[in-house]
Amino acid sequence: MTVGIIGHYKCGEHDMGEHHPENGKRLTAISDQLIRSGLDYVVRQFDAKPIDKSLLSLAHTQEYIDFVIKNAPNEGEPSFSVGEDALMNSKTLTSTLLSAGAAVDAVDLVMSETLTSAFCASRPPGHHAEHNKGMGFCFFNNVAIAAAYARKKYQLKRVAIVDFDVHHGNGTEDIIRNHFPVVDSTSDGAYLFCSSYQYPFYPFDIQQSDTPPVINTPLAATTKGEEFRKAITEHWLPALNKFKPEMIFISAGFDAHIEDDMSHVSLTESDYRWVTDELKTIAEEYANGRIVSLLEGGYNLSALGRSVVAHINGLIGN
Ligand SMILES: [Zn+2]
Repeated sequence: MTVGIIGHYKCGEHDMGEHHPENGKRLTAISDQLIRSGLDYVVRQFDAKPIDKSLLSLAHTQEYIDFVIKNAPNEGEPSFSVGEDALMNSKTLTSTLLSAGAAVDAVDLVMSETLTSAFCASRPPGHHAEHNKGMGFCFFNNVAIAAAYARKKYQLKRVAIVDFDVHHGNGTEDIIRNHFPVVDSTSDGAYLFCSSYQYPFYPFDIQQSDTPPVINTPLAATTKGEEFRKAITEHWLPALNKFKPEMIFISAGFDAHIEDDMSHVSLTESDYRWVTDELKTIAEEYANGRIVSLLEGGYNLSALGRSVVAHINGLIGN
């Protein structure tokens, strides 16, 4: 069981302003806890490469991609907003291309069997980015790009994306429902997306669904670990077992943690370990253990670092 972490120090340089919760200290907090736990000696670590820009169109319109690249500020120029709470400074484009690149690199490392599974300790996150717009701290949808890349390059027939961030992965749902069928005529039945999220809550406009390709699992603000596990057991696990994914992608957001002020849901590290164990069991059953996990939210620095350690220990099976 070889688990890798893919990231780059320049992913920490994207900055949306003083006191913004989605900041580079998040990656430092993760790195600190990996060292504190001793996991930095157990996992293999890789520097991400910037994504080949032509791969961005796997999940986004060329018009949106050009809009982001063209408007990325140079050093000394003012920040530019590409969408609601998606502000680019002079470092953002580099961070964004590395964050998407980490996801694609993770696919290659897992498919070549260099790694069994991988965690991308990268930012900015991606799951709110829709096929033609950025929003909610997200510019390009890293997980959707990587899932489409895995299908295209390695001819995988079925890939699952699961998202336990406390916010709904609206961007990923949008791309699976509206974009993939347009760019890939064989996408029907190729994707399963499972998202759990506090509801009602940002981004609000969500259709409940228990029908593939989208399993939307809303959680009440009062949700604690026991109810979370029950919801996942009832809604995700049967759908995943029926789907039989050849690879599992995880949009791993840790902002449902009880210590995270971003939400009201009250999960702990043990819940993140539990859901990782469940997903690993499914990956071992159908996907040769292949999991690519990507950092999404998680804003309480201590809780984030500890939760990532629990998640990676789950991937390893410690
Ligand atoms: Zn979130």
